[in-house]
Amino acid sequence: MVSNQQPIASSNPTPKLAIWKFTSCDGCQLSLLDCEDELLSLAAQVDIAYFLEASSEVKEGPFDISLVEGSITTPSDEERILEVRRQSRFLISIGACATAGGIQALRNFADVQEFTDVVYAHPEYIATLKESTPISGRVAVDFELQGCPINKHQLLEVISAFLHRRAPQVANHSVCIDCKLRGNVCIWVAHGTPCMGPVTHAGCGAICPSYNRGCYACYGPKENPNTESLCHWWDEKLNVENTLIVENLRNFNPLAPSFKVQSEDRQEDGER
Ligand code: SF4
Ligand code: SF4
Ligand code: SF4
Repeated sequence: MVSNQQPIASSNPTPKLAIWKFTSCDGCQLSLLDCEDELLSLAAQVDIAYFLEASSEVKEGPFDISLVEGSITTPSDEERILEVRRQSRFLISIGACATAGGIQALRNFADVQEFTDVVYAHPEYIATLKESTPISGRVAVDFELQGCPINKHQLLEVISAFLHRRAPQVANHSVCIDCKLRGNVCIWVAHGTPCMGPVTHAGCGAICPSYNRGCYACYGPKENPNTESLCHWWDEKLNVENTLIVENLRNFNPLAPSFKVQSEDRQEDGER
């Protein structure tokens, strides 16, 4: 949601862009580097002032647009995001980690201390929060771009929209629509393969079903997904185990509200 309608281009001839990493794998930042030709065009329109993945040169804020990758998972993340928000005119969270917690938010459904005890020889050196939260759980966010990783064309569209003070045109329909546009045979209907496509946000071009593999929802929920109905069909018609349903709801976007609620309901059902 665009919350600040002040023009950038007219008030600042060269808008400053910053790209921030929080707890994440860097994959979404790499999507920006993967823009190649488009990146040159973008660099001509903005001053890339802070992007440690690409350059050690760092310029002082404030920044016109901040792209934020990753979730808030450590005490230092908690402090740093407040400063990033303070320095940023528009803050856009990018990727599943930043918008829905990412894989690291699976800790929210368990005891993180148990994990650190098992994984690390010296867990006492690990500073981590009990829960991992999306960026919007800590500060106001002007737009959320979903995906793991994000789609580079959608990212360019979002940056362009903010530079030109208009709403981003990012399709929020399901993977099924893209699947049909590609002319795919539906693997759910034809082969009974469980597929999260009906509730999953478009952006990948329906890659998995195009290779006869069910979608596992790495782009998170589409607008108004009927997740309850999808789970019912997986359960009743495809005989998918409850554990597998919960896993698919939690894979990459465990804190997306429509996935979280269903996964908790399903987990409770399984424990009864
Ligand atoms: S959303 Fe996926 S690709 Fe992006 S930083 Fe998180 S784990 Fe990496
Ligand atoms: S294969 Fe999956 S994404 Fe494609 S139409 Fe069927 S349910 Fe939708
Ligand atoms: S899991 Fe679904 S959303 Fe992710 S790449 Fe595959 S088809 Fe696309």
